[in-house]
Parts: sequence; structure tokens; C-alpha cells
Amino acid sequence: MSHPELFFDEVAETMSQDELISRQNQALKEKVRYVMANNAYFRTLYRKAGIVAEDFRGLEDITSLPIIAKANFRETYPLGMCCVPKNQIREMHMSSGTSGTPVVMPYTQADLKQWASCMARCYRMAGARVGDPIQIMPSFGLFNGGFGMYHGARAAELFVIPTGSGNTERQIRLAKDFNTRIFTAVISYTTRIIEVMEKMGVELPSLEIGIFGAETVTAAMCEKIRNRLGMDVFNIYGMTETGGVGTLGMDCQAHDGIHVWEDQYYLEVVDPVTKVPVPDGQLGELVVTSLTREALPVIRFKTGDLTRILSREKCACGRTHLRIDRISGRTDDMLIVKGVNFFPSQVEQALLEIPGVHSEYQIIMEEENGVCDVHVLVEAEPGVTGFVVEKKLKERLGFSPKGEVLPVGALPRVDGKAVRVIRKKS
Ligand code: ADP
Ligand code: ZN
Repeated sequence: MSHPELFFDEVAETMSQDELISRQNQALKEKVRYVMANNAYFRTLYRKAGIVAEDFRGLEDITSLPIIAKANFRETYPLGMCCVPKNQIREMHMSSGTSGTPVVMPYTQADLKQWASCMARCYRMAGARVGDPIQIMPSFGLFNGGFGMYHGARAAELFVIPTGSGNTERQIRLAKDFNTRIFTAVISYTTRIIEVMEKMGVELPSLEIGIFGAETVTAAMCEKIRNRLGMDVFNIYGMTETGGVGTLGMDCQAHDGIHVWEDQYYLEVVDPVTKVPVPDGQLGELVVTSLTREALPVIRFKTGDLTRILSREKCACGRTHLRIDRISGRTDDMLIVKGVNFFPSQVEQALLEIPGVHSEYQIIMEEENGVCDVHVLVEAEPGVTGFVVEKKLKERLGFSPKGEVLPVGALPRVDGKAVRVIRKKS
């Protein structure tokens, strides 16, 4: 059964895989020509790799294109990869710099529209209706979160409450006073909201939809939020390099993987070391190509994000765009201790399985004489002991970091992305 109210662009969102592939093929061919014609950096890079624009055949030749990375952005800072004259730029955003490199993304008018429509698709997919009050809690500024949510909310005709980040008591009061139906935030901020709601003794029954992203979204965290706030929880995905939040996609109400807007982006999942594409279903690093962006279309950008392709079958929601697994971590986040590789998200998932444990935690990696000591600090109710934490982590990760339980509120709160790993050298 079709539910037109759950689509922003039903034709695009439900077109057949054959049609999608044919469009991707055409768009890729055109983009390679476009960047070579309009940008000297791309031209040099591609010529060095032996690419001749006129001979490039599309998807079948994609692996002949060099992979680009954050380093290319650093090398060309500020606008060395931009493909349009500066007077066509209407906005810019810059990455939050989690891995240390500022990435600048310029937008033309058409890029802003593309961003807004990707985001609007996400909103409708979550069930947002015209006029719904939406509270936008990521910050408004260089970080793309606030403005991306805003541009999309305008396109989807929502009632925007642009609170930005911080001032949690006011967030809650406004949600109560304006019957906010949709919350959007960096996922770790919800912990703070829940704590302050409890302190204020306020409940928010009008909340029905939570759209969270910007950092690892574990199943355990989603469930916690779903149960505590009584709303449906969505995992939204995007990054500065693809044009911001929501550009890549989100899970639908079936919560059976993240739909990626395949008419806008082409995905490859590759072995993080060899960069050779891996088969569907296998975990690897996501490599993304922007098919429709103008100012700075990334082609084969290696995201550092680890995921797998879950399905290319039509989904229960009617969408045909492929689905990927939740991002399990970033290649630069991977921790290696005593020969065991793990991600902070695995620690989070394990911790949240312990009754009484709250969602704030930190992993302290302390290196002394080449030996790494790992401490996991976690906030929990009285009664949860370090021993319980260690036992659970041993069971889930295969080694025993030292567990330390702290009272709720002991760890620092941040408004943006949470800082989970702290490295110390003694
Ligand atoms: P950075 O954090 O690299 O400085 P951005 O602010 O552009 O830059 O954030 C994009 C990154 O945030 C993604 O590459 C990914 O690692 C992470 N991210 C965004 N959304 C999600 C999500 N839903 N799940 C997991 N990680 C996410
Ligand atoms: Zn779906």
C-alpha cells in the first residue's frame, strides 16, 4: 500500500534499481568530465591516473579513478577543489574536525536545494507532516547539522523551532509550550535532555519522532531513547564532504537499515587497507560519489566510516534505494589493545546492556613503555560495580579493561559530538 504522505519525492524514491543504475552511470560519466573541465586540481589528479574524460565509460570504469580522502581537502584548503567561480557560492560549512582536518564544503544555490530535498525526504520518511513543530538542536554555524536540518525543514514545510544546541532547560520548556513533535539532535545530547527533564519533573508526551545522527548510533542507545521518550528513533547519516546531514539518507519506519539516496550518491564498500570493493554483506569502508552536486562533487571519497550493504531489495516502505547497516565506527576510531580490535560503539553497546548503567562513558587509553592500559569510566546508579562492568566488557570484547563506576553527572557534558576516547601518554 502506498503512503504518499511518507514521501517527499515518491517518483525518485521508488524508481527501479535498473533506472537508478542507469542514472548513476550517466551522472558519473558527466561528473568526471565536469570536474576535469572545471577544476585544475582534479584535472591534474585524474590525468596522472591516466584518465581521459572522453573515454571514461561510467560505472564500469569507476575503480580506475583515484580515491580521494580528507588529505585532499587539506591540501587544497580553502577552495582548491571547488568547481564553480566563487561568486556562485551561496553558503559554506566546515567539518567539526573530529579527526583533526577542517574540511570546507561550498554550496551553490542548486546544492542548497539538493541538500534540502535530501533532508526533506528524511523528514517525510520519518512521518513528519506539514506544520509539525520541529526542534532543531544541533548547533547553527559552520557545523552542518543545524542549517541542514533547517533547510530541509523549510522544504518539508515544518514549523521550525531553531533552538540550536545547549540551554537544555529552555529546550525542554519550549518543547512543552509548543508541543514539539520532532526532535533532532546529535545523539549523545539526548542523554542530557533526559537528565534535565527528570530534574525539572517534566514529561513531553507530544514528542513522536527523534532524528539523531552525527556520531555512532548504537541499537542499545536507540532503544533507551525510544523507551524513555516514547518516540520513534531514526538514524540520520551524512557528512560535510557529501554536503551535510541527511544527504546520504536515514532508516525508514521499518528500521531495517539506512536507505541511501542512490539517485544522488553512488556507494562502494571497500576493504579499508587494499581499497578493493568487498561483496554486499561484508563490512568495509564506505566510499561515496556525489552524482548531483555542483560546487564540490566528491568522487570516490573514502569516508573512514565502516558499514556493510544490507540489501538492494525493495523495502517494506516501498523505497528501492539500497540499505546499509548502521555505521559501526570510523577507521580512525578503531582501538587496538592486546591484539584485540574494537570500536567505542562496541563498548557503548556492552555497557548499556548492564541494568542501571547510564549512557555517559569514556574510554581512557594510557600508554606507558609501549603498553596500553585501558580504563572505561561509566556513570551508573549506586549498586553497579566496577567488577560487573569488567565482566560484561570481557564477555563482549574479549579482554578486560579496568571498569570504574562514577555517579551520574560526574563526566563532562558537551553540546556537540561526544568525546569518548581520551589518549594519555605517561
Ligand atoms: P567530522 O566529524 O569528520 O569532523 P562531520 O561533522 O562532517 O565531520 O561529520 C561526519 C561524520 O560523522 C561521518 O563521517 C561519520 O563518521 C559521523 N556520522 C554522521 N552521522 C552518523 C551516523 N548516523 N552514525 C554514525 N556516524 C555518523
Ligand atoms: Zn524502507
